[in-house]
Amino acid sequence: MTAWLVALPILLLACSGDGKAAASARSGPLKVVATTGMIGDAAARIAGDYAVVETLMGPGVDPHLFKASEGDVRRLAQADLVLYNGLHLEGKMGDILVKLARSRSVVAVSEEVPVSELREPPEFLGQYDPHIWFDVSLWAKTLNPVANALAELDPQHAGEFIANAGRLGEELRELDVWAQARIQEIPPERRVLVTAHDAFGYFGRRYGMEVVGLQGISTLSEPGLKDMDRVADLVASRAIPAIFIESSVPRRAIEAVVAACENRGHPVRIGGELFSDAMGAAGSEEGTYPGMVRFNVNTIVEALK
Ligand SMILES: [Zn+2]
Repeated sequence: MTAWLVALPILLLACSGDGKAAASARSGPLKVVATTGMIGDAAARIAGDYAVVETLMGPGVDPHLFKASEGDVRRLAQADLVLYNGLHLEGKMGDILVKLARSRSVVAVSEEVPVSELREPPEFLGQYDPHIWFDVSLWAKTLNPVANALAELDPQHAGEFIANAGRLGEELRELDVWAQARIQEIPPERRVLVTAHDAFGYFGRRYGMEVVGLQGISTLSEPGLKDMDRVADLVASRAIPAIFIESSVPRRAIEAVVAACENRGHPVRIGGELFSDAMGAAGSEEGTYPGMVRFNVNTIVEALK
């Protein structure tokens, strides 16, 4: 099963020849493939009409568990530029990305985020927390690597890419300020965010919320009874009114916490569904990165304030 996953990219790359040389002699828009929707959204905004941007992971897809299908590998092999998050978010795509990088531009958008600003949770075995899009000011630091990668492949339009990244960066700065102000509407003692997995660490740090995840940073291991008890005890003892499900993680674990809280005499409700590791449907407000941030912040504030 894994053997063909590893073997196939080599085959496809061998057929496609030297991707970097092909890109310089290219006609028509660049082909860009992004792993997550958040990256694809930024790339489409920055590239404008000069690239066709595809996203591998659609709504509801969990990047920690995502394995590239045969069709995904084919799309990747045809790309001039592959953009991924890095920091081990795409935990099962490492081999493919390494092989793709031999013949085309493959860029981790997190590369310019200073190490000093990355979270290194002790429970994550010495790795950095990959969920950098939850701090809008950190995510804004991923725009330059995207613009620079596009400019290198299409130098004629470099000015446009840099200008588009600047405009988007300005929009993200305003979004960041808005999110900070909106979270302040929650009474301080209720600024506790309980979700299915530990994706919101950067969010909590930036916007001033205590964050409790039922699962760890990655969704690779299922939550156990001990995790349920730990979270239910905390929710009941702190009288937290609402906890949240995530669009890319099965909801049953959070529902079990609701039941466990009821057993403890503390009724808690599900405050809504947050978009954590995947955006909403294409064409909807939540199908864009700024829309996803606004939706999450509004959902959290309305449920807890
Ligand atoms: Zn995650």
